[in-house]
Amino acid sequence: MKRLLVLSGDGIGPEVMAQVMRVIDWMARKGRIQFNVKESLIGGCSCDAHGTALTDETLAEAMAADAVLLGAVGGPKWDGLSFKKKPEQGLLRLRKAMDLFANLRPAIVFDALADAATLKLDVVKGLDLMIVRELTGGVYFGEPRGIEILDDKTRRGVNTHVYTTYEVERVARIAFDLSLKRNRKVCSVDKANVMEAGVLWREEVTRVWDEEYKAQGVILEHMYADNCAMQLVRAPKQFDVIVTDNLFGDLLSDCAATLTGSLGMLPSASLGIPLGGQRRALYEPAHGSAPDIAGKDIANPLATLLSFSMMLRYSFDKPDDANLIERAVQQVLSGGLRTADIMQPNKAKVSTTVMGDVILRELDKLVI
Ligand code: NAD
Repeated sequence: MKRLLVLSGDGIGPEVMAQVMRVIDWMARKGRIQFNVKESLIGGCSCDAHGTALTDETLAEAMAADAVLLGAVGGPKWDGLSFKKKPEQGLLRLRKAMDLFANLRPAIVFDALADAATLKLDVVKGLDLMIVRELTGGVYFGEPRGIEILDDKTRRGVNTHVYTTYEVERVARIAFDLSLKRNRKVCSVDKANVMEAGVLWREEVTRVWDEEYKAQGVILEHMYADNCAMQLVRAPKQFDVIVTDNLFGDLLSDCAATLTGSLGMLPSASLGIPLGGQRRALYEPAHGSAPDIAGKDIANPLATLLSFSMMLRYSFDKPDDANLIERAVQQVLSGGLRTADIMQPNKAKVSTTVMGDVILRELDKLVI
């Protein structure tokens, strides 16, 4: 049985996760996929209970699990803690220990929500792209870094944008492998026109493609990051899989996110290297703990549910079960039901719990 560690975290985390747990139970009841589920604390709730945002025991459980599903961490209650003790440090420590080097952020526009996007309907309708962001290298981690005081008492801030062959090729393979299950089209994004690390990025991605994926019919194109930002808001449907470094991925994935409407709809996956056949993986919604709406039963649970469906697809190779969840979401939205964050005129506003109820009802209908 697959080992799943569930870390609901803070704020709306436990509320949205409760709805996903109902779907996990449903999957087991229907004999589809069964998990050995462990639940543990991370973030502010762990600070309260254990004085640290992530205990060594929870970290060990995460390392032993086949996948980790996370809600969100943080909130004003813990704002006064020192930087090192903050809830977010638990998540950073977890990501680092699991060596999650590839962040997958799909930008999918559900038909029923297409007219809620800020761009014109025909630009976003049917959009389904995947951004693969390198997560553990590049300018956010490169050395040397720091702020120094110069002789004339002015200051100099330094960060180093650095990539190695190994770092580029492992994230490129993730993108190419994903494209094999999609439309076999990868766009690699860099600034090779002005950065040596960008030249290396482009050359290594091209080499991996040439040696391993070209013969499988994968098309590779390259684009400069500034042009990619422009193309994402001009004609996003030209893309299938985008692979890019940590810095550009940070910006471009947020840019792509705005194409889809609400934060409450955005899932994500972070993948590590395969160990004994199973790849370390953490799945979590793109949103935070939303303290402004926590405890009110109004949060949108769909981003967390869609993160779970990514888990079924990428960690457990269960595309049918993942499709089932995505179709249930589609049907519920088409039926006019909305949580407050995605509410539109003439639709019915429902609570977090009712959204969970109707998803289960839809799943029941889909498997009859
Ligand atoms: P946030 O994502 O929590 O909220 C931003 C806005 O979006 C809020 O108005 C919120 O109500 C709304 N929103 C977010 N998720 C929603 C959902 N599922 N349904 C309906 N509305 C939703 O970002 P923030 O307010 O900047 O941060 C709040 C806390 O979350 C902070 O402590 C921050 O550090 C933390 N945070 C955690 C993560 C994480 O756990 N990965 C990510 C971002 C922020």
